Parts: sequence; C-alpha cells; structure tokens
Amino acid sequence: QARKASREPYVQFRTQHREELQRRQRIEEELRRALDTDRSQLEIHYQPIVSTDSGTLVALEALLRWNHPDLGSIPPAEFIPLAEQSTLIDKVGAHVLATACAEVAATPELAQIMLCINASRRELTNGEFLHRLTATCEQTGMNPRSLCLEITESALAPLDGGLLNLLREIRALGIHISLDDFGTGASSLSELYRLPVSILKAARAFVDALEERPSARTILAGIVDVAHAMGVRVIAEGVETAEQAATIAAVRCDLAQGYHYGRPKPLAEIVTEGAASSAPQEVRDDS
Ligand code: C2E
Ligand code: MG
Ligand code: MG
Ligand code: MG
Repeated sequence: QARKASREPYVQFRTQHREELQRRQRIEEELRRALDTDRSQLEIHYQPIVSTDSGTLVALEALLRWNHPDLGSIPPAEFIPLAEQSTLIDKVGAHVLATACAEVAATPELAQIMLCINASRRELTNGEFLHRLTATCEQTGMNPRSLCLEITESALAPLDGGLLNLLREIRALGIHISLDDFGTGASSLSELYRLPVSILKAARAFVDALEERPSARTILAGIVDVAHAMGVRVIAEGVETAEQAATIAAVRCDLAQGYHYGRPKPLAEIVTEGAASSAPQEVRDDS
C-alpha cells in the first residue's frame, strides 16, 4: 500500500510528461504539414512601430499566426521554440520572409515603411541565409534598405567570427539588423560596438518595469544615450499605457511598439486604417 502511494506522483509525472511530449510531436507534425500542403493555415500579422515624437508609422513587425483546423489558434510562443529545435524553423522563416516581403512590396502605400522580420539563430547559420535574403528581395521587389531583421541577443550567443561576418554581410546588402528583446538576456552594451546593428529593441519586460522601479527609467535613459552615441536607434516594445508612452518618449526612445499604438493585424487592415486616418482631413478640407 505504502509502496503504491509513493509511486503515484511519479506515475502522474510520467503521464503529464507523455502528454506534453505528444502535444509537441503533434504540433511539429502539423506545422510541417501546414507548410507543405496547406499554407492557408498560416497568416502573417503586422504590428505598427511608430515614431515617439510624431506618432507616424515608421515600420511594421511581421508576426506569424497559425490557425489549425482542429487545434485552433496556436501562439508563436508555443510553436516557434519547437520549430527552432529542428530545421523546421528554416521552412517557417523562409515562408515568413517570402510572404511578408511579397505582401509589403506589393503595397504602394507602404513604400516608405520598414519591414521587420524575426530571424532565429538556426536560420542565420544554415549556410544559405544570405542567398535567401538576396533572392527574396529580387523576387519580391523588396528594397533591402527597407528590410530589418530582428535577432534576439540570446540568438547571437555565442558570437563567433563566422556569425559576426554574416551580420556584416547582411548589413552590406543594405538590410538593417535590430537586437530584439534587449535587456532580457545577457545584455551587454559593451558588445554593441562590435555588432552592425541599426536598432535596439528594449524588451517588454523592461518597459513593464518602468512603473514599479524608478531605476528602470534611469537605466533605459542610459541605454538610449549609449545607443544614440553609436548611431543606433531605440524601439521600446510592449508599450500598453499612455504613461509608458510618455516615459519612453521622455527618455528619448526613437520608436515605440505595443498595444497602446496597435495590435498585430492583417496587412489589409493596416492599409485601410492608414487611409481612414488621413480621410477625415480631406473631408474637412472640402466642407
Ligand atoms: P517578439 O519578436 O519579441 O515579438 C513581440 C511579441 O510581443 C509579439 O508576440 C507581439 O504580439 C507581442 N506584443 C506586442 N505588443 C505588445 C503589448 O503591448 N503587450 C503584450 N503583452 N504583448 C505585446 P507574438 O506575436 O505572440 O510572438 C511571440 C514571439 O514569437 C516573438 O517575440 C518572436 O520571438 C516569435 N515569432 C513570431 N513570429 C515569428 C517568425 O515569423 N519567426 C520567428 N523566428 N519568430 C517569430
Ligand atoms: Mg521581434
Ligand atoms: Mg521582442
Ligand atoms: Mg515587439
């Protein structure tokens, strides 16, 4: 009896573990299937990145959405880390790059807007990434200077010579690089001078801390100063409130992204909203 009881937590653990494993396996299989045979399950949403002083749209971040017919909508936080464990992330990345570039390049209203795309370490190091970038820009008509790759700090560690060279080659194509989720990993401002980055994205966790910890504001102001001294612009991400928006503007963050400005949505909605926001002015002019 005692023996049985003592085994129970273990059995529970094993069952939970097995279910988790099965879910992960299913997700991986289904994602592969979606990419190979039914890409209509995959949709790219775009989130506005605005200038903190004028509020105008400067860039869009492409964020992948997956709606599975049986499993429903699966968040990237679940399927991206899974895909990153295999070469599946290569397929995901190639799909997002090609689709987002094609969609944005085909929209004349967005000619001046920068397109930001997330890239994982495994994609960067697959040996054909540079070629994929040039081929995609050629095929879609995307201007490399309007393209920005978001790479997390953790994806760059360890930063060996090969990877650093690749980043320089990407930059030489005109494509921008931004450091995503800056402030959450092993942030190292001292590494910044080695990296050909144009933009630093202060992580959401960082922006969240602004309200609770006064020191967070001081640190952010310092990061902005260092970034500016190196010609690097700063985006604050995850800005949800007017207070946060005011604070990040006060410490001279150049750009901002978050629910306060707009949620990720299909490109068509972004374009209609852009048209709608300039429409009232025209109506007023006529009357
Ligand atoms: P990320 O690149 O840091 O993207 C920002 C995430 O924060 C997005 O979550 C976005 O929807 C969310 N977000 C934006 N503003 C706010 C806000 O004000 N409040 C809160 N609470 N959240 C906000 P999402 O779309 O779920 O993506 C999660 C992560 O998945 C991304 O983090 C990125 O690392 C990864 N991901 C998404 N799409 C792709 C992709 O196409 N390729 C790769 N490699 N990774 C992707
Ligand atoms: Mg990102
Ligand atoms: Mg981020
Ligand atoms: Mg973001």
